[in-house]
Amino acid sequence: MRKDAFFFFVVDYKRRLETRAKKRLFRKLDEVVPLAREAWLEMNSGQRRPFVLQAKEYQEDGECLSKYQSLVRDVSMLEEARCAQANKTRQMKSLIDKLVGGAESRHELGNQDFYFISILHFGRTFIHTYQPAELAIVKYSLKCGIKEQLHLLINPGVISLCDEYSAMQHSKNTHALPIPPDALGLAYYDEIAEMVLEFTKAKEHPTVLFTNAQNVSIVESMLLEILEDHIDANTLYVSSLEELFYRLKQATKMNPLSFVPSMKMVQNMLNEDIFSNTIGISCQYHESRQLFMHCALSQCVRWAYTVSANCCSQMCIELIPGKHIPMDTSSGSGSDTSDMHITVVHKPKKIGKRGCSRRITNE
Ligand SMILES: [Zn+2]
Repeated sequence: MRKDAFFFFVVDYKRRLETRAKKRLFRKLDEVVPLAREAWLEMNSGQRRPFVLQAKEYQEDGECLSKYQSLVRDVSMLEEARCAQANKTRQMKSLIDKLVGGAESRHELGNQDFYFISILHFGRTFIHTYQPAELAIVKYSLKCGIKEQLHLLINPGVISLCDEYSAMQHSKNTHALPIPPDALGLAYYDEIAEMVLEFTKAKEHPTVLFTNAQNVSIVESMLLEILEDHIDANTLYVSSLEELFYRLKQATKMNPLSFVPSMKMVQNMLNEDIFSNTIGISCQYHESRQLFMHCALSQCVRWAYTVSANCCSQMCIELIPGKHIPMDTSSGSGSDTSDMHITVVHKPKKIGKRGCSRRITNE
């Protein structure tokens, strides 16, 4: 029965009849309804009022309970998300410890390879996702500096009408890349995935890619979408460059008593970005427009330079221009690429939908 005024009257009516008879007269509430209805129809509004109020109170309590239950659900979801985030942070720290600590214990820290990744996007979409525009990964070691680079412009293929304006604004204020459907670069995600996996060797062993802390989840979400069907879980991780940098600063200190900067100081060193105006390290598109700061490739190279400038001298590693630090910028050349393997793919216009088999060739 619906919990309205009549329901509360039926409950009360049954109780009164049974009290008067001093015994149970009805097994179910339904059995008393016909008698109660007759009595209810003869009652005026004043007589019905207590039951109307009772029903109202019940309804308000129900709404309160429902609000409370929904609040409890929200709180528990938040708590779950907080725990998941805390677990992830712990997992990342332990991975970095293993990577750096393992290399240290083998006396191989100088030769340990690290991957720095930057993925630029076309702004946040209406449904809170990000569509990739440019991807760069740099393979780096303290001893050799920048060893290899992978650079791709990406055409995510489709963009909804409601995202078009924000994508245009985002592009205008940052990387200046044309927005879909006129975006440049590869449109075939499977092809991009294979190139990323080949470059990082993530199919052979779990690999950690480092990017600045504030973009870890954004970069990770775009990367996972690109790699979706190409990797198993626990194959490729995106982690905080700040954490790595901090750990390297600790590992490369000259003696146990030497000063180690705090995490905050390490973050400031990266944010300061003293190599931001280095020329010759961006992709062709951004180099020609002098948008060095907004190039994913330039960003990865600058991170490598910043880490080198702060960690190599403690390990008595000589800084090689173009590998650890910029080339002489007055000469207009930033990176010594003579013996470096570089994969650069840009250009072609063309829309390509995810999963389509069309291959976009290099420029
Ligand atoms: Zn670029």
